[in-house]
Amino acid sequence: MTKNRLHHRILIIGGGTAGITVAARLRRAGQDDVAIIEPAAKHYYQPLWTLVGGGRAPLSASIRSETSVMPQGVAWIRDSAVSVDPDAAVVTTAAFGEVSYDYLVVCPGLQLDWGRLTGLDLTLGSNGVSSNYSPDFAPRTWELIQGMRSGTAVFTMPSGPIKCGGAPQKIAYLAADYWRMQGVLGDIRVILSLPSSSMFAVPEFSVVLEQVVKRYGIEVMFNSEAVEIDGPERRVVIANAENGSKSEVHYDMLHAVPPQSAPDWLKRTSLSDGSDLGWVQVDKDSLRHLRYPNIFALGDAANLPTSKTGAAVRKQAPVLVANLLSVMKGGGGDVAGYDGYTSCPLTTARNRMLLAEFDYDHRPDPSIPFINTRKERYDMWLLKRYGLPAMYWHLMLKGLV
Ligand SMILES: Cc1cc2nc3c(=O)[nH]c(=O)nc-3n(C[C@H](O)[C@H](O)[C@H](O)COP(=O)(O)OP(=O)(O)OC[C@H]3O[C@@H](n4cnc5c(N)ncnc54)[C@H](O)[C@@H]3O)c2cc1C
Repeated sequence: MTKNRLHHRILIIGGGTAGITVAARLRRAGQDDVAIIEPAAKHYYQPLWTLVGGGRAPLSASIRSETSVMPQGVAWIRDSAVSVDPDAAVVTTAAFGEVSYDYLVVCPGLQLDWGRLTGLDLTLGSNGVSSNYSPDFAPRTWELIQGMRSGTAVFTMPSGPIKCGGAPQKIAYLAADYWRMQGVLGDIRVILSLPSSSMFAVPEFSVVLEQVVKRYGIEVMFNSEAVEIDGPERRVVIANAENGSKSEVHYDMLHAVPPQSAPDWLKRTSLSDGSDLGWVQVDKDSLRHLRYPNIFALGDAANLPTSKTGAAVRKQAPVLVANLLSVMKGGGGDVAGYDGYTSCPLTTARNRMLLAEFDYDHRPDPSIPFINTRKERYDMWLLKRYGLPAMYWHLMLKGLV
């Protein structure tokens, strides 16, 4: 059987935050043969899902059609990539066939491994269990929070890289602040299970978060990870990696964040770094693949040693595009460098936010002049709720910031 075959000068896998931003920048730079392989009809601004779960934004505000964000002049191949042969410079897709390329940008995001937390996939959405990591369940989180008047609420975070490392704790603060306003916080035991030994990787922000958990009376279990959920019994088993102990906690509400990894099909390609999690192996400064000079990667799927966020993508995209254009002109592909900048807008209350910005070395890297973003602020809350989404839809996805 003959396969369908297409060719594009620049092919992008994934039309999410990274793919659309890179495509828009390439178009602005005059590239006229850019294609994106993307199966989804909807494009999500995922950072808003924390606020959806916390009852501070409607889910609809996080959704636009993929058609509306696709840059003009970019060919949209509405299909899923299923493998890459970097030696032949060909991507195979699920339905269409093969697409060959001169240059490839890999950014299909990451995979939520619900099944790696025993019992989670069986009970998600029922038995008091929810997760803001899926648009199908973020609204359910808010229903559960509103329904709690007493009992135990557990918020978990898996070990290993995840997107937006702050999201597992942000929802705990939004919930606790709501319960405080309702006058029921004193009747609710709030447990936050973290795999780390401190509140946050950057000490400057960790000290602020220590005060936040104290304020709400949240019990933090450090070096800990949920390993099993029994939905019908409303029981979660939390393992402590430091001393090997396991504790069983009865919960009334559980916000679970699944373990995460590169998509399975990507793990199987030679683009992967060979680790169990299978991220695409790129140079952390240039974002160029370490073994395939015509391939670049960015966003959640890349093995960059920084926190996986849309804010990081905003800084990675211009670097990648500059280096890709340089390679296309016969240059070395290292005209620009990424310093690991990432940012985590930590909502610490229903109207307060701490903007944690840092680089590869976990050094604070503030981008807003004149104001102290190392403390909880109302103006930063407004930025998170209204400013950043507007910047995303109107500037970032158009290749302007
Ligand atoms: C609850 C939550 C809160 C967050 N909070 C923040 C925050 O406050 N600030 C922040 O900056 N970031 C936050 N993030 C993270 C941010 O959304 C991601 O880091 C960002 O979207 C990564 O961009 P990406 O393009 O790599 O992946 P995505 O935006 O996920 O896009 C991947 C795209 O690839 C497509 N795709 C998947 N498989 C295939 C395939 N086989 N072939 C082709 N295409 C495919 C998908 O349909 C999708 O469109 C949050 C995320 C979540 C879930």
